[in-house]
Amino acid sequence: MRILESLKQEFQIIENEQEKGVALNQTAFYPGGGGQPPDRGFLSTLNGKILIKRARMLPNGVVLHLFQEKTFPELSVDEKVKGQIDWDYRYAVMQNHTSAHLMAEAVRQVLGKPVEIVGSGLEANKVRLDFAYSSSLRPLFSKIEKVANNVVKDNRPVIIKTMRRNDAEKYLERFHESLKILPSHVTEVRIVEIEDWHACACGGTHVKHTGEIGFIKLLSRSSKGKGVERIEFAASQSP
Ligand SMILES: [Zn+2]
Repeated sequence: MRILESLKQEFQIIENEQEKGVALNQTAFYPGGGGQPPDRGFLSTLNGKILIKRARMLPNGVVLHLFQEKTFPELSVDEKVKGQIDWDYRYAVMQNHTSAHLMAEAVRQVLGKPVEIVGSGLEANKVRLDFAYSSSLRPLFSKIEKVANNVVKDNRPVIIKTMRRNDAEKYLERFHESLKILPSHVTEVRIVEIEDWHACACGGTHVKHTGEIGFIKLLSRSSKGKGVERIEFAASQSP
């Protein structure tokens, strides 16, 4: 990777917090989006290592790598650097991301109807999904866990494909997913499918097979009011 554009000026992201970052001509850092948190890691430079607390995409599509420390080795434009993401963190996020997709269908299967997902949150140590459902899912936890972990054991491939919007819309019908939250100018859609189980539009990163998720454990449920039921769960747990 080469330094594309060293941002000399300080810019404000959060009030009272000055942050600096660097843009590269290519990057493996995920800049966050679609509910998935951004990568962190470090850059090896001629003058030493720079800790990157997170990547962030600017409105012009450039990915900025934000420095963790206030002081850092000097960088110059066109200098070659090597980026390394915090893989343990990213892999935990990927395991949870794929389990979020998997769990969406597990809940629907147990309820026997395509309840809508109205919110979600993804972290390295847990996932939350909000369903448009007005009763407690607590009594169904063991059933849902069983259905979900059977799909983990199936070791189904996670397939990523790009489709035209119209085709994607039709394709997703059988998975009870739609593209209604996608902005209308989007004409090509990236679909993530857990083979024959669940598919939806998603720009995030995933494990290659469900077996990589490990055991999915349901951690809690709560009612968010207005007929919304929230569950939290995590991948890679002990049964
Ligand atoms: Zn996703």
